[in-house]
Amino acid sequence: MAVKRKNRCSFCGRTEDEVALMLTGLNGFICDECIRQAERIVRENMGSEVRLKAGKASGLDMNDIPKPRDIKAFLDQYVIGQDSAKRYLSVAVYNHYKRLAQKVDDDGVEIEKSNIIMVGATGTGKTLLARTIAKLLKVPFTIVDATVFTEAGYVGEDVESILTRLLQVADYDVTATERGIVFIDEIDKIARKQDNPSITRDVSGEGVQQGLLKLLEGSIVNVPPKGGRKHPDQDYIHVDTRNILFICGGAFDGIERKIAQRLNTHVVGYDSVQNQRRIDTKDLMKYIVPQDLKSFGLIPEIIGRLPVLTYLNPLDREALRNILTEPKNSLVKQQIKLFAMDGIQLSFEEDALDYIVDKAIEYKLGARGLRSIMETIMIEAQFSAPTNGEKALTITREYAEQQIEKNERMEK
Ligand code: ADP
Repeated sequence: MAVKRKNRCSFCGRTEDEVALMLTGLNGFICDECIRQAERIVRENMGSEVRLKAGKASGLDMNDIPKPRDIKAFLDQYVIGQDSAKRYLSVAVYNHYKRLAQKVDDDGVEIEKSNIIMVGATGTGKTLLARTIAKLLKVPFTIVDATVFTEAGYVGEDVESILTRLLQVADYDVTATERGIVFIDEIDKIARKQDNPSITRDVSGEGVQQGLLKLLEGSIVNVPPKGGRKHPDQDYIHVDTRNILFICGGAFDGIERKIAQRLNTHVVGYDSVQNQRRIDTKDLMKYIVPQDLKSFGLIPEIIGRLPVLTYLNPLDREALRNILTEPKNSLVKQQIKLFAMDGIQLSFEEDALDYIVDKAIEYKLGARGLRSIMETIMIEAQFSAPTNGEKALTITREYAEQQIEKNERMEK
């Protein structure tokens, strides 16, 4: 009786029993281990080859790329107001695509990248804008928080780990990573503490800015594949940041004072009365210029690498009211959907919504407050409605007030 011979991997020689998976080819076999190893080798080799062809090999077809108006229209579905920031972002993303699609050798003109910085109070929609734009991007995108970074040698993460996140999103595809977009949140937290070139060392501020500068400028950076801190005996992945677009956001608490100071010094003069009248003191943010970022503590080199500066407006009553109902996934729409899944038709009286806005203004939490107020009002109904058999529920102002007051009493 002939003994059936076991299939062996043509690369490593292991038998079917010794591996998890064996693929059969025309004249041989390959096991899962060897497939993985081969893929690694291909990636490593392709990485440098494709980099040489950068630009042409971007795979982006200009016809497929959304135009700035389309990008803004998309943002409008999710983010209320903030027109200026939306326009800047739409153009920046569009230009980013153009830069990736450009063929430099034709005319010697190279479109350089324009990183962005968005300034606006907390809860005005900076992160929301970044997250929303991520939904329609055709390149890897990640959001990182600048507060976790510290200067090399101190506790915290190295700035290079920003790129680790991007690599992870791109599934460790270096070529894709090198075309990605990074949103750096809370950039103001790495500002120098005083507008005073460092007398003492400023570990958390200037050092991190220097580190960040390297990434923004465009250079080959050694990235720790698993993030965290760099380690002498770790293998690094080399990432070229020349084509990575950086969008920074920060609240820059107190920057209005710097703006006011600058405006005041400018208006001192014989026509000061006229000039002063033209300044809208309630919304100083719209007068922001790069110099104010410097007064706040960003180093000039960083500011130079963030040439597009835009701002977000504080949210007024009307904006907060719209945020409750207008966005595609507004808080009201989400609640209605939650109840609909239990077969309950939920509705809100206009007065109840006005009350939620009043409370958000009272708590001074901007749009961030809306969500927690909504949750507090709805918790009781969410708990009992699924089992009490009612098919419709209307939230009145009176009901909303009761729920909030009950909660406020409990907190005391
Ligand atoms: P920031 O990053 O500016 O501190 P976020 O974008 O995190 O603020 O906003 C917090 C929450 O408030 C968001 O998840 C969103 O629900 C809501 N929000 C803030 N601004 C807006 C806006 N302009 N339009 C719609 N929702 C907003």
